[in-house]
Amino acid sequence: MPRVPFNKPYMTGNELSYITQAHAQGMLAGDGPFTKKCHEWLETQTECARALLTHSCTAALEMAALLLDIQPGDEIIMPSFTFVSTANAFVLRGGVPVFVDIRDDTLNIDEKLIEEAITSKTRAVCVVHYAGVSCEMDEIQAVCQRYDLALIEDAAQGVMSKYKDWALGTIGDYGALSFHETKNIISGEGGALLINDPADVQKAEIIREKGTDRSRFFRGEVDKYTWQEPGSSFLPGELIAAFLWAQFEDADDINERRLLSWRIYDRLLEQMEQEGKLRRPIIPVECDHNAHLYFGVLPEGVDRKPILKQLHEQEVYCLFHYVPLHDSPAGRKYGRVHGELKVTNDLSERLVRLPLWVGIPAEDQEFVVDCLEKAIDRQL
Ligand SMILES: *Cc1c(COP(=O)(O)O)cnc(C)c1O
Repeated sequence: MPRVPFNKPYMTGNELSYITQAHAQGMLAGDGPFTKKCHEWLETQTECARALLTHSCTAALEMAALLLDIQPGDEIIMPSFTFVSTANAFVLRGGVPVFVDIRDDTLNIDEKLIEEAITSKTRAVCVVHYAGVSCEMDEIQAVCQRYDLALIEDAAQGVMSKYKDWALGTIGDYGALSFHETKNIISGEGGALLINDPADVQKAEIIREKGTDRSRFFRGEVDKYTWQEPGSSFLPGELIAAFLWAQFEDADDINERRLLSWRIYDRLLEQMEQEGKLRRPIIPVECDHNAHLYFGVLPEGVDRKPILKQLHEQEVYCLFHYVPLHDSPAGRKYGRVHGELKVTNDLSERLVRLPLWVGIPAEDQEFVVDCLEKAIDRQL
C-alpha cells in the first residue's frame, strides 16, 4: 500500500449483508427488490421522472444516444475535456462529437461557445459536470430550447450535487450517473439513467430490456412481452443493486465526510494560492458540489511531469486529467473541433488531482500538501 493512495473505495459495512439477502432470496437477475429500492431512492433524491439502474454510466450514455435515435452524421456538442464515454456513446451510433472549449474557472463546457458551434446537423448538447460542479445550466438550457436540441448531462461525477435547486442529471432530458469504484457512491461497476420527461420512460425501459416490453409484462400491463425496437441489456444484476443499496443508505454521511476532507485541502492550500504557486478550485455560487475531487492548477510554464514524479517517489499518488479527446487518435478520426480549445489544451497540462477518499486522515492531507509545495518550489 502506498503512503497516500489516490483513491480508496469506501464500504459502509452493510454491503455483504445485503448481498447475502439477495443471494438467499434467490433472485439474481436485474430488477429485483434491491433494484426497486435503488430506483425509488434515486427518484426521491433527485426528483427525476424515472431512474433506471444500468451497469455503468457508459451504458446510461449509450441508452441516451439510443433514446435520441442518433443517426450517422448527427452532431453532438460536448467538451473535449472529458472521459471517453461521453463521446463513445454517440460515435457508436455514427454521431459526430463536436468539441468546444471549457471555462477557465470550472473546467466545464463554456456555455458562451455552444451557439456558434451549432449547424444544421446538430442534434444534441452533452454537458459534463466536472468534479461534481455544475455547468451553467440556465444558459445551456436556453440555447437548447432556442435551437430545439436535446440536452444530456454526463453527471458521472455529480451524484448528490446540485445546480440551484436541481440535482445534477435532472436538468436536461437525460442524466447519466456513475457508481464506478472511483466515484463517490459505488457498486464496483454501476450507473443509472435519469429520465426527466415522463413521455420517454416507456421507450427507456424497452431499450434497457433488450428492446422488449418486459418491464410492462412484469407489472402485469401486457400479457406477453415481445420485441418492440432495437435495444440491448443495460441492467445490472441484483447483487450489484444490493451492494449499491448499502451505499445509498449512507449517501448523506459519505457526502459530508468527503466535503470535510475537501475543505481541509482548501484551507491548507490557501497560502500557496496567495503565493501564486497553485490555483484552487473555483465553485460558482449557484453550485452545491459533492467533493468528488480536489485539484489544483499549476502556474503557467511550470512542468507538471517532474512534480508528479517527485510525489510518486514519496508514495503520494497525485494524478492528472484528461488527455483531451480532440487530441486522441479516435477523437481526431471521429470528432470535429470547433474553435481553438485554448483553455482545454492549457489547463489539461497544468491540472493536478490530489488523493481524496472518505476517511483520509488529515495528517495524510497535510503530508500531501507539504510534498506538493516542495515539488512545486523546485520547479519555480
Ligand atoms: C467515470 C466517468 C464516466 C464513466 O463511468 P462508468 O460508470 O465507468 O461507465 C463517464 N463520464 C465521466 C465524466 C466520468 O467521470
